[in-house]
Amino acid sequence: MFEYQLKPSNRRRSIAIKVTEAGVVVHTPMGVSTHQLHSWLLSKQSWVLAQQKKLQTLPQLQVPWVSSKVRIFGEVYECHFHSTGESEVIHNKQTVNVCVRQPSNTAECRKALLSLLQSELERYVMSVLPTLAKNMGVCIASVKFREYKSRWGSCSSNKALTFNTLLVGAHKAAIEYVIIHELAHCHVLAHNHAFWQIVSRYCSDYQENVKWFRVSGRSLFISKAQ
Ligand SMILES: [Zn+2]
Repeated sequence: MFEYQLKPSNRRRSIAIKVTEAGVVVHTPMGVSTHQLHSWLLSKQSWVLAQQKKLQTLPQLQVPWVSSKVRIFGEVYECHFHSTGESEVIHNKQTVNVCVRQPSNTAECRKALLSLLQSELERYVMSVLPTLAKNMGVCIASVKFREYKSRWGSCSSNKALTFNTLLVGAHKAAIEYVIIHELAHCHVLAHNHAFWQIVSRYCSDYQENVKWFRVSGRSLFISKAQ
């Protein structure tokens, strides 16, 4: 039998399994008998193993407070968490120093690192976005940055753009593609033929970028602090 963490809840009506990189979690209603649970889990064993195997083939998430590494603009930087000094990215040394109160507190490390990475991304995006917007004939209302779980950017109907902070790990060409993609949404909101025609006009190799994000985009994600 596989290892799992049991999470009983009185709001639950049926048993469910969640397989993630952090392990297997089994959610059950209150009062499920050990025998009943065990036989149910046995029936799911091969499914769980298949899910675990699938996870192994996916690009790994970044865990900078364990590996001391983080991706910035497609390169791997050394990442150190200190309780003194400044938070800074030193590009010519491919080093990131993050100042936190408690370097052993991974939640604090993650938050401080993300805010530092966000300013790096913001600086790059704001250096190319005005020209791209002008070329594409778009007048945007605002630009924001935040961490998204399942999208790289968004564009609202009133032309407010938002970019995923985690884009900072991608190559600049891939980030530029995302900017063009969101700017193209200012003309066409749907992902239809007209939309992709606009994208291809400003990013001729957009298909390679789309594929890269689909296959490797997960490698830009930073694990949740434990
Ligand atoms: Zn889109």
